Amino acid sequence: MTGPQIVTGALYIDCGQPRRNGDWARPPRAKYECLTCGTTDGPVVGETAVKAFVATIRATHQQTHHQQGEAA
Ligand SMILES: [Zn+2]
Repeated sequence: MTGPQIVTGALYIDCGQPRRNGDWARPPRAKYECLTCGTTDGPVVGETAVKAFVATIRATHQQTHHQQGEAA
């Protein structure tokens, strides 16, 4: 045990359901729910969009919704 975890948000990823021909029976999608401000980002749909979203959403959300109080 390392003590309580600080959970700031929940990232939901649906990997979708690919068809054999490379198309999607159900395309991948993802969304992010912030537990601090209650904002939901997404959902985004599509393999490329989901990969980019997952890689950047935490930082993007912080910048967009939780701007630090430091003076510019
Ligand atoms: Zn937030």
